[in-house]
Amino acid sequence: MGLHQVHETSVGLRDFQFQRLNELLLFASRFNKFYKEKLDGIPLPIKDFQDLKRLPFTTKKELAKDQMDFPPFGRNHTYPVENYIRYHQTSGTTGRPLKVLDTRKSWDWWIQCWVEVLKSAGVTRADRCYLAFSFGPFIGFWAAYEGIQRLGALAIPGGSMSSEERLNSMIQNSATVLLCTPSYALHLAEVAEKIGVDIQNSSIQKIITAGEPGGSIPSVRKQIENLFGAKLYDHVGMTEMGAYGYSCREQNGLHVNEKEFIVEIIDPETLEHVKPGEKGELVLTNLGRYGYPMIRYRTGDIVIYQENPCPCGNPYQFLPGGLVGRADDMVVIRGVNIYPTSIEAIIREFPEIKEFRIIYYTEHEMDQMKVQIEGPENVVESLARLLRVRLGLRIEVERVEDGSLTRFEMKARRIIDKRKNKSKVT
Ligand SMILES: [Zn+2]
Repeated sequence: MGLHQVHETSVGLRDFQFQRLNELLLFASRFNKFYKEKLDGIPLPIKDFQDLKRLPFTTKKELAKDQMDFPPFGRNHTYPVENYIRYHQTSGTTGRPLKVLDTRKSWDWWIQCWVEVLKSAGVTRADRCYLAFSFGPFIGFWAAYEGIQRLGALAIPGGSMSSEERLNSMIQNSATVLLCTPSYALHLAEVAEKIGVDIQNSSIQKIITAGEPGGSIPSVRKQIENLFGAKLYDHVGMTEMGAYGYSCREQNGLHVNEKEFIVEIIDPETLEHVKPGEKGELVLTNLGRYGYPMIRYRTGDIVIYQENPCPCGNPYQFLPGGLVGRADDMVVIRGVNIYPTSIEAIIREFPEIKEFRIIYYTEHEMDQMKVQIEGPENVVESLARLLRVRLGLRIEVERVEDGSLTRFEMKARRIIDKRKNKSKVT
């Protein structure tokens, strides 16, 4: 498959990474105005993992400020703007969207990273891949669409269609792989049931999810797999960074494509590398996107550092459980650290719950939360009990009318924050 070629050579993965990193650093410190400033005076080359600490972190805040100071695209675009062929922007949930351009070569790199995702999911040229996604300015499945073609499989776009039309198209074209967000997969299954389409026995064999952490949450994954009678694979990527991670046949977490990315996991307070078994913030460096390089980027995603390799045989860094939270999503409710991902993991253990949302609010100067669900009355108490057991926190569960909560195709926004002091929101 070629996936692990690098590791098997005598050079070794680390040496390969650092050779590429030093090439990138040399290049960026000369030709990229954003990094020229940041890397000024830092002794190069970087020889080992500890040396990485010499390099400054890059943050989204910094990129946003740079883009404001140097409109419209900012200085991290290494080449003159006429060299760029792709435009994307972040969803801008916490401020202005960030504009990110790619040159032909950088975009080619993106596509190749997606080919690795597809290979890890066992997709072959015999597959017909259905992309249930509206192709807009978000990076979403754009690179997937082209990666599918590069692999030699058939790419069927499902943009600007209703869920019903998408289901019909999937069935009529005998699609074997479905690509969408985990929230949307659940929604599609709901619509299928409503209109009497039997997706459980349909041609769909695999689902590749992206855009939300759901695909790596066991309860979400199981629910989607049961509804579709298919196996689910997860993928993670970021507009600023690239398509960096994917799940494997073991399905219990994500691998980072270390051929193209250097992984660090840091304590967000001390900024030091965490120890095995500890949680920390994922920091990534991309090695092949010269049109928009990213060095020691603080992703804001919380992951667990595991030293042992995954039993699947892929030697790349394994992140058990995938992205377990967002640094800026964490809230403290009555002294307990809560990530929405952990709430969702519990809610999805109840397949009867069709949709939900989380509401944070302030009462008697205390931050509180409640969960609203669409589902049968009898599930309310069971869910409240399980939340209390798992989180050690009494959380109110409220039933709302069926169909009253929003369904999502893109990144789901299931949190309503009515707290007086939104301390952890950046
Ligand atoms: Zn694996």
